[in-house]
Amino acid sequence: MKCDKCGATTNPGDQICINCGAKLSIENMIMPEVEKVNNIPNKKEISKETLYIVIAVLGVISLVCIVILITVLLVR
Ligand SMILES: [Zn+2]
Repeated sequence: MKCDKCGATTNPGDQICINCGAKLSIENMIMPEVEKVNNIPNKKEISKETLYIVIAVLGVISLVCIVILITVLLVR
């Protein structure tokens, strides 16, 4: 990355130019590692879906537990 004002080379993630102190563009603030992660969208989507499934299953299990608890209490 280079500074827009003085053209000095800046490190990725830098918010201010080391040479002239000018504020760098938002693009420079994005770390290259984040871009790498974004290049693999399929893996992220799959993990998100599995997370939703796990949350849904846990929700159903807790609902069943509550229903059983209520019925047991009502029978007594
Ligand atoms: Zn500069």
